[in-house]
Amino acid sequence: MILFIVHYPHVRCFMPDFHTDYDFSTTMLKVRDDLMILPIAVGWRPDLTIDQGVRILEIPWKYLKQEIKDIGSYLLVLRLERRRLIRVGGLGKVMFEKGSYIYVGSAMRNLRARIGRHGQRRKKMHWHIDYLTQVAHGFLSIPIRSSQRRECEIAQALSSIMKSGPLGFGSSDCHCFTHLFWNEGNPLEMEAFHNVLERFMMRRP
Ligand SMILES: [Zn+2]
Repeated sequence: MILFIVHYPHVRCFMPDFHTDYDFSTTMLKVRDDLMILPIAVGWRPDLTIDQGVRILEIPWKYLKQEIKDIGSYLLVLRLERRRLIRVGGLGKVMFEKGSYIYVGSAMRNLRARIGRHGQRRKKMHWHIDYLTQVAHGFLSIPIRSSQRRECEIAQALSSIMKSGPLGFGSSDCHCFTHLFWNEGNPLEMEAFHNVLERFMMRRP
């Protein structure tokens, strides 16, 4: 049996974080008929007694079966320590300001392998982002799994909270201005950035 305790009473359903912990989520899906999986929500009073009783939460298995797959979108968070001119394949030489960069991509198969490839410095240059991952620091990947291709929607959302990178960067196959965004500061410290993540990762079934 697995017991999940959600310390917040106003919750409707429970889902594993399949974006971040893919192995745990696929395992949970696989063993769901062999184990009792019991998510409950509890509310606490200030004196640490239970407030509104205990509620058993629904698990949207049908939705999870459809969404827990190794496909979807990803963000790459990178940092440039100084302003520099970088040759980016067909885009030619582009000036990049010092700061943090977020790239949005997607892989509608083998998402993990794609992200793993981006993390390698030595590789054959293929995508625009390869020219940046080669010289940037602080590589961090954030998978946003989904059965639908959402990279352009995510790019749209990021464009409203960050500055746009070069025209056509990673967006040769779509109508977006760019799939690269930048900021002087660290986006991981921006509330607006976490709101965007939440919007795409915590989609309601
Ligand atoms: Zn796009």
